[in-house]
Amino acid sequence: MAGSGKTTFVQRINSYLHSTDSPKPPYILNLDPAVTYMPFEANIDIRDTINYAEVMKQYNLGPNGGILTALNLFTTKFDQVLGIVEKRAESVDYVILDTPGQIEIFTWSASGAIITDAVAASFPTVIAYVIDTARTTAPATFMSNMLYACSILYKTKLPFILVFNKTDVQKHDFAVKWMTDFEAFQKALQTHGARNENTSGDGDPNYMDSLMHSMSLVLDEFYQHLKAVGVSSVTGDGMKEFFEAVEESREEYKRDYLAELQRLQ
Ligand code: GDP
Ligand code: MG
Repeated sequence: MAGSGKTTFVQRINSYLHSTDSPKPPYILNLDPAVTYMPFEANIDIRDTINYAEVMKQYNLGPNGGILTALNLFTTKFDQVLGIVEKRAESVDYVILDTPGQIEIFTWSASGAIITDAVAASFPTVIAYVIDTARTTAPATFMSNMLYACSILYKTKLPFILVFNKTDVQKHDFAVKWMTDFEAFQKALQTHGARNENTSGDGDPNYMDSLMHSMSLVLDEFYQHLKAVGVSSVTGDGMKEFFEAVEESREEYKRDYLAELQRLQ
């Protein structure tokens, strides 16, 4: 989600990989045409080739239309981008892609899918889904965030890491508990669940309870397929655990994603 700390997390990965024993700096791609503050310099930046403000003006678009169109224009050149990255593949261990703040523009657009599929066909790829931990402590919010993650997992079919960010503000142990203990989450839903958060006032509360219950059953299955780590992009806490999850994902990519890709070809 916008503001969850994706860009700050990329910056943290960058400094972490600069600080380890055999430093091989990562290769960073910025795909957010509208980003105003970036704490690092990307190796390839969509803003170098696409002027977002100009796109908005020229095509008479609002902010989201502007981002989408900028991404579409960039995607037409993505084979060249991939070519550049492939040339670097020998000398770098990690290529990091930072996505636009309005993440649905990336996950639910044709360009987002083209970019994801192209990258995943060339390199072991993992999705890091960044969550603002402090903003997801309400059970219903937690569930909608997890459902969103779920939809991205099923769309991309790539190895997936839930990154509970901002643990300096809010620890993520409640989330781990809810993900591993179905009863605990049900209890949380009942005590301060859907009804309190349904501020609109309309809708049948019983219907909400039943819906939430069914959805959490779906999620229970989904949790089996992913890894979760807590990090703070500000303090650097949890980065070692994150990279352990990345290494596991590399194996998973080879075992599942690549095998499926080869089977289809
Ligand atoms: P993005 O829209 O997902 O790329 O989010 P940004 O990286 O731009 O971060 C949004 C806000 O969250 C900024 O004010 C960051 O300083 C802040 N932020 C990011 N990561 C952390 C973190 O680990 N801890 C705290 N306390 N703040 C963070
Ligand atoms: Mg960002």
